Amino acid sequence: MKKIDTIIKNAYLITMNQARDILPNACVAVDSGKILAVGGDELLAQYQADTVIDAAGKCVFPGFISTHSHLFQTMLKGLGRDKFLLDWLNSSVRVALHNFDEETVYYAALHGCMEAIRSGTTTILDYMYAHPIPGLDDCVTRAFEDIGIRGILGRAFTNVGSFPPEIACPTVETEQDFFDNVRRLEKQYRAHPRVGVCMAPGIIWDHTDDGFREMRRTADELRIPITMHLVETPDDDAFSQAHYHEDTIPHLERLGVLGPDFIAVHCVYMKDEDLETFRKYDVKVSHNPNSNMVLASGVARIPEMLEKGIAVSLACDGSASNDTQNMLEVIKAASLMQKVYHRNPSLMPASATVELATLGGARALGRERDLGSIEPGKRADLIVFDPLSPFSAPVHDPVSTLVYACSPDNIKTVLIEGKVVLKDGRFTTIDEEKTIWQAQRLAAKLAEKSGLGNVQWGRKVPPLSL
Ligand SMILES: [Zn+2]
Repeated sequence: MKKIDTIIKNAYLITMNQARDILPNACVAVDSGKILAVGGDELLAQYQADTVIDAAGKCVFPGFISTHSHLFQTMLKGLGRDKFLLDWLNSSVRVALHNFDEETVYYAALHGCMEAIRSGTTTILDYMYAHPIPGLDDCVTRAFEDIGIRGILGRAFTNVGSFPPEIACPTVETEQDFFDNVRRLEKQYRAHPRVGVCMAPGIIWDHTDDGFREMRRTADELRIPITMHLVETPDDDAFSQAHYHEDTIPHLERLGVLGPDFIAVHCVYMKDEDLETFRKYDVKVSHNPNSNMVLASGVARIPEMLEKGIAVSLACDGSASNDTQNMLEVIKAASLMQKVYHRNPSLMPASATVELATLGGARALGRERDLGSIEPGKRADLIVFDPLSPFSAPVHDPVSTLVYACSPDNIKTVLIEGKVVLKDGRFTTIDEEKTIWQAQRLAAKLAEKSGLGNVQWGRKVPPLSL
């Protein structure tokens, strides 16, 4: 018998393979971070595993892929609510930006990843734009390494010169500092099995035309993706029209920035010709329905994008504009949002939404060959889902249950790169209680230092003391 790391047996397996096979009594053999074989009980006679996971009565899905977050924002959950995008930014995130230090970013990222994993996320793309002091990117990647998530750091640049003067940020990072850091981080993580890097230009007004051209050259040279906030609100096109006399997407096309390695985030204000441009260049989309609802940004044209064959993935966005990294909420909202907006219940069935959360994410990241489904040769990123909880049982169709009737409590075990990071509801890699406590302490300190706090019923809400 061949010795391997892990075998999962007696699983109700949702493979998400080409045929979308659902195998009611399956085994998955895992070795060296990869899926070695998928089959029936015959695998138990072929392999001797160090770890045997008995998934009897449970379902195994591929892990979810969240293609957009700002993990540092975990510290700002629930602040500055009930405003449009720019008013919200100017009254919460941008006010606190210059008060982030290493410990605060580390625990924000660790806490955010903890939420992500508990809700079934095995890969996260973090868009890190808080750089009041050098080295904060490294706090996010350290959190990726410590908790064991598959993490891609989107190294961002925020042109703080665009902030209103009353919230001016002392950060003086230049565009050149940004490119230097991208190269440093890319070199550092080039050979890492789980941690990677991409470029994350903030938004159309954050870079010069030369900066965008340089970004395309750097992406081609280093073979790393570019991800960017794009037409989340009408503000992008208003800026682009005022400065370049054309809309944002035609402007980026003219600069040569678009391509199959470009992950466009939000894409709410897409015109017909923009959809066509995305199809032509195979631009990928990160759809963040909860954030779009919280900030009343609008409803992205997801069903039309899918009809055109544009790759769409799902994401939580930062916790300051969503309040959580719970991917299960996003999966449900992605279905419900289109149904009600179009008054068409046949749009975005559960099968389609699960595809976006798994295969769609893999395609968006250019990782369809090694992520997104449970097939031999792919990385072993899996979740074990217990359908029998008070809110989800009785179960007739686990795919439907996953989308419409479950919570993180249903997700018991999570494997990433073949390693069990969550086992029977408990983390094997971090001290969860300590993480929550530290995050709460640091968040309270940050809010106080930044003068942030909400008003409810006309009065300022007092801080929670531990
Ligand atoms: Zn964002």
